[in-house]
Amino acid sequence: MGRKIYKEAIVIRNEIKDSRKLKKPERENRNPYEMAKKQIDIVAKEMNLDVRITKYLKKVERSLIVSIPVVMDNGDLEVFEGFRVHHSTVRGPGKGGIRFSPDVCLDEVKALATWMTWKNSLLNLPLGGAKGGVCVDPRKLSLKELERLTRRYTAEIINVIGPDIDIPAPDVGTDKRIMAWIMDVYSMQKGRSIPGVVTGKPIEIGGSVGRESATGMGLYFVIDALYKKLNLELSNATIVVQGFGNVGGTFAQILFEKGATVLAVSDISGGLYSKDGLDINKLIKWRDQNRLLKDFTEEDYIFVHNDEFLTLDCDILVPAAIENQISLSNVDKINCEIVLEGANGPTTPEADEILKERGIIVVPDILANAGGVCVSYFEYIQDIHSYFWKLDRINSELESIMVNTFEEVYQLSIKRNVSLRTAAYIIAISRLARAIELRGIFP
Ligand code: NAP
Repeated sequence: MGRKIYKEAIVIRNEIKDSRKLKKPERENRNPYEMAKKQIDIVAKEMNLDVRITKYLKKVERSLIVSIPVVMDNGDLEVFEGFRVHHSTVRGPGKGGIRFSPDVCLDEVKALATWMTWKNSLLNLPLGGAKGGVCVDPRKLSLKELERLTRRYTAEIINVIGPDIDIPAPDVGTDKRIMAWIMDVYSMQKGRSIPGVVTGKPIEIGGSVGRESATGMGLYFVIDALYKKLNLELSNATIVVQGFGNVGGTFAQILFEKGATVLAVSDISGGLYSKDGLDINKLIKWRDQNRLLKDFTEEDYIFVHNDEFLTLDCDILVPAAIENQISLSNVDKINCEIVLEGANGPTTPEADEILKERGIIVVPDILANAGGVCVSYFEYIQDIHSYFWKLDRINSELESIMVNTFEEVYQLSIKRNVSLRTAAYIIAISRLARAIELRGIFP
């Protein structure tokens, strides 16, 4: 697809002229929580937000730091650090995933909790924003060590989670098996089975059909809606996906099955590229045998190092791994028409400005990857009612919420002549500000 045709088709680029005058910032702060606060400032200025509300929203409600002692298989004791943060419970109980990764720290969890508040508010779900994490490389643990770590972490945070307090879910490095252990510990302590304490559980114990694929499905519904606005065919698109886990893998598979050309995918070991497109189903089978993409030799695919991966030429670039992937260090080399943010916080605010300046459309994380929390919400209400929906209902309600939210964001971006990110933030923050105003500040 030619960049020229694209540029003619894009309505949202009205801002470009003005932003050309912007100078490239010299430095950027890679701390995700500083990033999250900077995003609030940008939008607060745009919407003329009451300074008291801005001050309120730049703080998290509570942060719990816990030590998690684990007896390792060889008899040694390791003590891991874990967190659970509530950014806001003004609009309902906290909701957000749990991350197991060696890079987890308090500021990362605070940022992720803040982004969850915006996401839930943008979708108008009756939920607040929360997040948790443990600083650990789960790949270095045996299954038994992972289970002991998860069970002890759950016991440590038990007083701040619960179906009407805060409902965790999977994120990077965690999955449905870990959610099952969390649900079990919580239920054992409370003396009855309480499936609604976590979402993303196995279906047999109160999980929802369609939850595992929900974030990837949501990304698809949003990019499909944008492509329709631009009068373009998704089946003609070329796509590059960073991160081949739950989000990136599912999205790549959906697009592959829809006939689009997935040029490249990557995991922690690097990426694979083919100008004719990759066979995503084959690569998913490979990944599911716990094998890294760099070791895949069944086809003649080209190996691409992670440093160069995001600069591959494509129509749609999908960062679906971790934060801070598009930054001042590589933004000039980004070679796509649309960035569809699968991960949370993959673009720094400084790089975001430059993408805007270059006429690249960014579909922001709080909109693009909101399908996961949407179906988590469906799982939560199914658990409360003990009545489970069929996949058709899940996917059609998901599609309706994602497409309507996209439309709302898109229309506002045109009306106010702002980016999709700014429009999404204005909607989310306005809803939250109104809730704070109605409830008042205690006491
Ligand atoms: P995941 O299943 O653990 O997958 C993460 C993927 O990213 C893996 O392929 C991983 O490779 C790869 N990766 C990690 N670090 C990388 C790096 N530095 N360079 C390239 N690839 C890297 O996690 P996920 O659930 O898909 O989550 C991905 C992102 O989406 C996160 O930002 C998460 O917060 C966000 N998100 C997730 C959901 C959800 O429902 N799961 C919902 C909304 C947003 P290895 O497997 O080889 O380590």
